[in-house]
Amino acid sequence: MPHPVSSFVVEYFYWVFIAVLVLNLLQRKYRREVLKKRAATLYIAVVVFAFYIYAYGVIHFDFSDLLLIPYVAVAVTLFAVYRRVLFPFAYHCTSCRQPLDFNRMLYSDSNLCSQCAEKQASSADGA
Ligand SMILES: [Zn+2]
Repeated sequence: MPHPVSSFVVEYFYWVFIAVLVLNLLQRKYRREVLKKRAATLYIAVVVFAFYIYAYGVIHFDFSDLLLIPYVAVAVTLFAVYRRVLFPFAYHCTSCRQPLDFNRMLYSDSNLCSQCAEKQASSADGA
């Protein structure tokens, strides 16, 4: 039985897994500011690697590619239910709605732009 989808997953998702782990290692540099997002990239890496193993099993045991659907359904449900834990990344500042730059998006748990983060830090110091 041919496995076009499983073969694609086995061929490319290993590299997606490695890329997510590299991002996780890059986040380590900012370890005090990025605890939640660092945990999230680790969880995402686990989900991606489990998908890789699952697709490998589908090919190895010569099952149909349709068996990937339950895994994808479970993964999508997990991401929907635990969205705040698994995907804490924001594209806009949560205070002023300015688009966040790439570094603040990936390496800062606050999801605030640099101006709002400065304002918050100075008001916290004054209080
Ligand atoms: Zn802002």
